[in-house]
Amino acid sequence: MRIVVLAGGIGGARFLRGLKSAAPDADITVIGNTGDDIHLFGLKVCPDLDTVMYTLGGGIHEDQGWGRADESFAVKEELAAYGVGPEWFGLGDRDFATHIVRTQMIGAGYPLSAVTEALCARWQPGVRLLPMTDDRIETHVLIDDPDAPAAEGADEGRPARKAVHFQEYWVRLRASVPAHAVIPVGAEQAKPAPGVLEAIAAADVVLFPPSNPVVSVGTILAVPGVREAIADAGVPVVGLSPIVGDAPVRGMADKVLAAVGVESTAAAVARHYGSGLLDGWLVDTVDAAAVGEVEAAGIRCRAVPLMMTDVEATARMATEALKLAEEVRA
Ligand code: GDP
Ligand code: CA
Repeated sequence: MRIVVLAGGIGGARFLRGLKSAAPDADITVIGNTGDDIHLFGLKVCPDLDTVMYTLGGGIHEDQGWGRADESFAVKEELAAYGVGPEWFGLGDRDFATHIVRTQMIGAGYPLSAVTEALCARWQPGVRLLPMTDDRIETHVLIDDPDAPAAEGADEGRPARKAVHFQEYWVRLRASVPAHAVIPVGAEQAKPAPGVLEAIAAADVVLFPPSNPVVSVGTILAVPGVREAIADAGVPVVGLSPIVGDAPVRGMADKVLAAVGVESTAAAVARHYGSGLLDGWLVDTVDAAAVGEVEAAGIRCRAVPLMMTDVEATARMATEALKLAEEVRA
């Protein structure tokens, strides 16, 4: 069975660990989000690709869900001693090595897809990990800019706005201010990375893990051709809700959902993806009342436990997703 999964960071990576356990013989291709990528200290950092690679390769900091286990921070402390920031982005010594290798290879002319493959040769994640694109896409978030003069004309009185990098919004500001828009800068000119459209066309099933629907899965779908390829593949497309009991299980997905006008409910996220894309949707048992609403939108829906407390519980979620895919196919 060939499975394609569109993954962000923590939610995607943890789901993939369960999927591998539930379907050990499946051929899994992961299309990873690169909209969160950021250049820091002259290095290219790909947080979501690395979270998938470290989680599946056994190097992840388990409690944190990102970065390396057994980490130390000597390089960051030395940089800080020179007054060189940003201090708000956590980069440990072990993690730095990954970004140095990646940046060196990109400097030598290799595309990100080839670099990712080279990094995965060490980590052996047991899936084929592809960046969504080799081109640069950077997610920006539009927020109020209290320091700028207020807008004039039609917008008079409304505070001026500015765009900040997604990491600045998420990590530095902790999504504490309203997001007015989420913009995948560069997406219109980007092309899917080699292998992405081919994997979708050859898939038996496409899964959306409980990743952030806006800044993880949404950004991947913004790469021209990807959404169309999934809709045209003619195979079941099944997703799992990252929203449980009307709130994200972890993180601040509600803030970026609000920016795109979507309520933080499992049913609203399903409708946001839409029946043109999604055939099946799993909601948590606490949201069982939402099943009817999702099915009324033309998406087959089941309520099952969706908390990824351990690999076994996550494997059961993956099994339910594959079961729903078979129902859709039939
Ligand atoms: P990020 O890039 O690290 O933010 O990770 P993702 O985009 O892949 O996943 C983030 C989403 O995972 C958040 O919106 C969470 O609500 C969701 N999530 C995290 N843990 C769980 C869980 O145990 N169950 C469910 N259903 N969702 C989860
Ligand atoms: Ca991310």
